[in-house]
Amino acid sequence: MTREDLACHCGCGTNKAQDLLWQMIQKMEEVAGSQEASSGTRCLSYNRKFGSEDTSSHIPGWAVDVRVKDNHHRWQIITAAILAGFNRIEANAGFENYRCLNPKCRRKGAFRPWVHLDCDPAKPKETIF
Ligand SMILES: [Zn+2]
Ligand SMILES: [Zn+2]
Repeated sequence: MTREDLACHCGCGTNKAQDLLWQMIQKMEEVAGSQEASSGTRCLSYNRKFGSEDTSSHIPGWAVDVRVKDNHHRWQIITAAILAGFNRIEANAGFENYRCLNPKCRRKGAFRPWVHLDCDPAKPKETIF
């Protein structure tokens, strides 16, 4: 992925990706190969539309979501992420039929699985959720 891929996907152009996050993504990709970001940094309004909490590590630029193709790919991402120094990891199974509860939100349908990686210094370390 490129650093530009970490810009908010709403189209607003916000990209607060932290240098540390970007360095760790590059290390992760040295081991796992090039990956696709399904979500990088988010502006507050897009994060809310997304159904995520205001405390999300995507807002200050400490987190990336990496698209997962299958279970082996998930293993490759997570092992590479740990080698790269990520110590906060979420393995999300995705949604068969998601519908955001916010009436203004257009997000609905199927969402492929992803791995959330973050290095948010304000949150608990060495955790997989
Ligand atoms: Zn935005
Ligand atoms: Zn995430």
